[in-house]
Amino acid sequence: MGGHPLYLEPRLGPRLGLLLDSAGLLHTLTGALGSPLNVVLPDQITANLHEFRSVYDSHHLSGQVFFAHKAGRSSALLRRLAATDAGVDVASLGELQHALGAGFTPERITATGPKNSEFLWLAARTSVTVSVDGRAELDQLAALVRKYTLPRVHVLLRLSGFESPGVRVLSRRSRFGTSAGELDPLLEAVERHSDAVDLVGVGYHLDTTSLDEKATALEGCLRALEECRSRGLRPRAVDVGGGFGINYLADGGQWERYTTELTSAVLGTRPPLTWGGHGYGLRNEAGTLRGTLGLYPAHRPVAGARYLDALLSHPAASLGGRPLAALLLEHLYDLHTEPGRALLDRCGVTLAKVLEVREQDAGGALLVRLAAKADDVALEEHGVLMDPVLVPRTDRPTGQQPVAVHLVGSLCLETDLITRRTVFLPRRPEPGDLMAFPNTAAYCMDFHATRAQQQPVARKVAAWQEGDSWRWCLDDEYWPTTPVGEAQ
Ligand SMILES: *Cc1c(COP(=O)(O)O)cnc(C)c1O
Repeated sequence: MGGHPLYLEPRLGPRLGLLLDSAGLLHTLTGALGSPLNVVLPDQITANLHEFRSVYDSHHLSGQVFFAHKAGRSSALLRRLAATDAGVDVASLGELQHALGAGFTPERITATGPKNSEFLWLAARTSVTVSVDGRAELDQLAALVRKYTLPRVHVLLRLSGFESPGVRVLSRRSRFGTSAGELDPLLEAVERHSDAVDLVGVGYHLDTTSLDEKATALEGCLRALEECRSRGLRPRAVDVGGGFGINYLADGGQWERYTTELTSAVLGTRPPLTWGGHGYGLRNEAGTLRGTLGLYPAHRPVAGARYLDALLSHPAASLGGRPLAALLLEHLYDLHTEPGRALLDRCGVTLAKVLEVREQDAGGALLVRLAAKADDVALEEHGVLMDPVLVPRTDRPTGQQPVAVHLVGSLCLETDLITRRTVFLPRRPEPGDLMAFPNTAAYCMDFHATRAQQQPVARKVAAWQEGDSWRWCLDDEYWPTTPVGEAQ
């Protein structure tokens, strides 16, 4: 099968690990509800929230963790979070309605992203905080407040394009927010609209893994807050956005080995590792490696709450070199975070039934066709390379020989590949087995799901443990009171 297996084993943790060990349950669920099927784990999101909270505590910081709703569409996960002290960050009218309906009260909701007038109106009407993208939006919001005699709205100013004096790191360009260099005219507008808006703070959200860039942005926000105070405004919060990330893989060595071998495969010095020579952004130009690997850094030990800890411990280069957390604490600023992906870490799995296992050329990888479309399992779409877990049919003996496979979807389309890479599995799958794709709750399980070719969108269930057994219900039927006995 072309060399040693190159595994990319998922980091499951105890809860998801136990669920995937429950083959009987998973087969019953897909038998009843079809394939693909998404399973979410509401108790995991609260565990992830506690990790963020403990980082706040260890730095003696107050403030709020706002779940970035756009990362997922599960009602169960949102409602579970509504039963904690977390907030939610909504980026559309529908998400705002979902959050209000799940039980979030307005002081626990922030409205961000591009907004139409309906979204702005409902946000203002219900007194949620609005993260304002720029001057035009501020003017529009103030006009709505006056026209419909709404209460004064709490606003955060979203900034971008930070520069740091004497330091070379610049933050990346963003479509969103007001350039930090154009703060003055924005603050003038805040003052002009003081009958309609109340400034609570400033913030940013940068889609990057770079700690230096985020530290530069946070320093920029601290300077912007000083500027506000020097004008007599009374801001009290800094919002550092999301982007804390997930560590998807169990083993850093496997990730190193895989990316090294992928590079060799692109250069032609080992057998191919992908369908049709796909290079994930790398290419071979006359023996020279070109391009950049367009993959999520799937093994990322400093992710999630640990990433927040690293940011807060980072020295503020332009502000005397003290840790950023110390500066926040000194000014008694509330810290707002907006983790999306990180709060959904290990909160869900996508199950797909194996329909066909076909031998290709002698010695080649097996073609494994699943009852799912590539869009149902959008891990590849997000550049996350991670092995699925084989959940064999309960009534069959399982072989022990590792195999190489290509996982293809159920659309009548050459490009419907669930993985473009060759996936190594510890044993051969058979029709009727399930392939479980772990950790799909963030962006993968429902961000891209379509009804292409009239094929169904995956159903979703919430599952939780009671003693030694698993309970479940449809995602939309879940409320925090559902898990019987949990309150005792
Ligand atoms: C997408 C988004 C987030 C969440 O980003 P993650 O990478 O999922 O943590 C937070 N804030 C804003 C404004 C966003 O657009």
